[in-house]
Amino acid sequence: MEKSGWSAEGRQDSRRSGQLTIRVFLLSLFLVFILSLFFHQFNRKLEQSLWEEKQAQYQYLADQSAQLVSQQINEDQRVLQSLVEETASLTKGSAVAMLNEYDVRWEKAGDYPSITRSGDHLQYAAKAELADGTCLTLFHTVSTNTYDALLGTLFTGKPFTGYWIKPEGTLLWQTDGSLDGLDALSLASDETMQLFTSKLDGGWGQFVLVANRGLSESVSLAILRSSLSMAVMVIVIFFLFLVYLLSMDHRYARTLWHLAYVDELTKLPNKNLFEKEAKIRLQHPRDSYAVMILDIGKFKLINDHFGYGFGDSLLLHCAKVIPRYVTRDGLCARLSGDKFIMLVSYRERTALQRRITIIEEELSHFSFPKASLFQLEILIGISLVEEPNLEISSYIDRALFALSALKEAKQGWYLFYEEALKDQLLEESELEHVFNKALSAGEFFIQIQPKYSFSAGSLIGGEALVRWKHPTRGLLMPSQFIPLLEKHNLLISLDMYVLKLVCKLFVQWKGEGKPLLPISVNQSRAHLFVTDYEESLVALVDHYGIDHKLMEFELTETLFLHDLTHLSSVLKSLRSQGFLVSLDDFGSGYSSLTMLKDVQIDVIKMDQGFFTDLTTNEQGRVVIQHVIAMAKDLGITSIAEGVESEEQARMLASMGCDAVQGYFYSQPLETSEYGQLLSDDTPRCFL
Ligand code: C2E
Ligand code: CA
Ligand code: CA
Repeated sequence: MEKSGWSAEGRQDSRRSGQLTIRVFLLSLFLVFILSLFFHQFNRKLEQSLWEEKQAQYQYLADQSAQLVSQQINEDQRVLQSLVEETASLTKGSAVAMLNEYDVRWEKAGDYPSITRSGDHLQYAAKAELADGTCLTLFHTVSTNTYDALLGTLFTGKPFTGYWIKPEGTLLWQTDGSLDGLDALSLASDETMQLFTSKLDGGWGQFVLVANRGLSESVSLAILRSSLSMAVMVIVIFFLFLVYLLSMDHRYARTLWHLAYVDELTKLPNKNLFEKEAKIRLQHPRDSYAVMILDIGKFKLINDHFGYGFGDSLLLHCAKVIPRYVTRDGLCARLSGDKFIMLVSYRERTALQRRITIIEEELSHFSFPKASLFQLEILIGISLVEEPNLEISSYIDRALFALSALKEAKQGWYLFYEEALKDQLLEESELEHVFNKALSAGEFFIQIQPKYSFSAGSLIGGEALVRWKHPTRGLLMPSQFIPLLEKHNLLISLDMYVLKLVCKLFVQWKGEGKPLLPISVNQSRAHLFVTDYEESLVALVDHYGIDHKLMEFELTETLFLHDLTHLSSVLKSLRSQGFLVSLDDFGSGYSSLTMLKDVQIDVIKMDQGFFTDLTTNEQGRVVIQHVIAMAKDLGITSIAEGVESEEQARMLASMGCDAVQGYFYSQPLETSEYGQLLSDDTPRCFL
């Protein structure tokens, strides 16, 4: 298994073309071998037939030469015979005189060989019996030049030599005339010599033609040979070219494969290859498997802050570390941007958790520039492969679900996908539809929490708080649905709906002749980004003919952080319309006292967290005292929210806080109950 976890099967694609090239190469070698064998055989056959042809030609030449030599011998012999015949009728004296005249040598009869060689002459001998009974031997001498001339045209400059060998084996004459110690008896065919023998007529011995084998190679054979080797060369080159083309094709195929399956930066497999490989592994799993998606927290911020090069080095660090923790039968890949994916096998869930912890630890060893306090944050979404028929893409989706739920929860750094999570996410995907249905079905309603003045203990108004009577889940409190609606941009509609309910209540109470006190409604931060925000509020309130002074809008403190100028203008415009504006949850976040002088508000609502430990915390007491004093100076009403005990109430009252809202005074009430409070104008004494 490679570090990146590519399986043999995954690599097969890339190998397939390589194997083809090798196969073609081997086939080419085989073909070249067969061709060479064929050419070799062909060449041998050719040589053989050419050799036989030559043999026949040489033999013919030898026969021709023997015929010529025989004719010459007969000629020379006839001269001697005619002398013998002439002397037959003469006496010794007249025969000698005639012979001297002919310049023919004679000796007393003896046993002379019929032909001998002496220097550059051949000497024929013949017995002559004279009329007087004397016996002589006549000698006729012929220059070897006569014989040389005879065969000169046939042999000169050719790789042949002709020999006249007597019957008993002695050499009489040879064409180049050298007779340089060549022993005729030693003549025999060998590697370099070829002998062709032809008998001379009249028992004069034999004519031997010696051909020099080395030189006898015919030019045509050489040409044929070289053309054959040329042909082999061409074929070899052709096959090599073919192999080259195929290897180019293979390289091209590999490049395409890389583009399709490998991540350019990290060289890890990409999602496509991961899915392909994982599918194969999950077909016959031996262990349990888990799909894990690792996400680098705040990666965009890292890129923006430290530069893209630095971001890349972080990704490379992950690509180096992650493969080390892939199990032997597992995989890893870069899923996208800052997300890596792993398929790992495991026996027990605890072991898997240990592996996750180690990976996280190892990854966080990445060092940021010294001056920075940045800490690498790794989030991991895990889905366990538990259903055999589920596609790998579904497990990836599940791990991604877990990851996004993890981000949402803002706590913990790893999360296992569970069915409950799916239900929630499923619901989220259908939320808009469900919400609209709930709005029209009247599932949303309000409760009103009364606000009391500290000084008089009288009711000064209330805050409208929304609730959802869910058909299956029962009563849902704002914390259970408001963040979700806000995330999906549905909160504005809900706020307008709440405002409408409040307006209707005013109409109803007005009709019932009840004294009217301001009701505050909470406003989501999304309103501020709607251009006709103020206009739509005015339109709605005016539609029901409600006095603007009865409407109070609560805006949370965190809103003020974003765009103070824009917010100031919105608040200004609302107040100019006669609405009341309150700053909600003051003290819960990044409150700044100085902010109070920059924005125009009517009420400041101090958050519960501000004074829960007021009775024990001296410092907190000092701060709240200043807030109240400052509000008073600026003409802003101060309300303490979430007052739960008498001590808190007393303390706040002693500090000069104007009003109070909290369970100690009243829980949020059904609108009918609150309506009754309106009619009952007797001040209450809580303290
Ligand atoms: P909030 O505006 O700070 O509202 C006050 C919350 O404090 C209410 O919770 C109320 O029931 C609770 N509360 C009042 N007195 C006490 C007390 O003595 N002790 C404790 N522990 N809690 C107390 P609720 O009704 O659950 O509302 C929660 C939040 O939901 C509200 O906080 C507000 O931010 C938001 N919300 C409620 N209704 C709406 C609405 O119609 N629109 C918008 N945009 N937000 C709303
Ligand atoms: Ca509020
Ligand atoms: Ca509040």
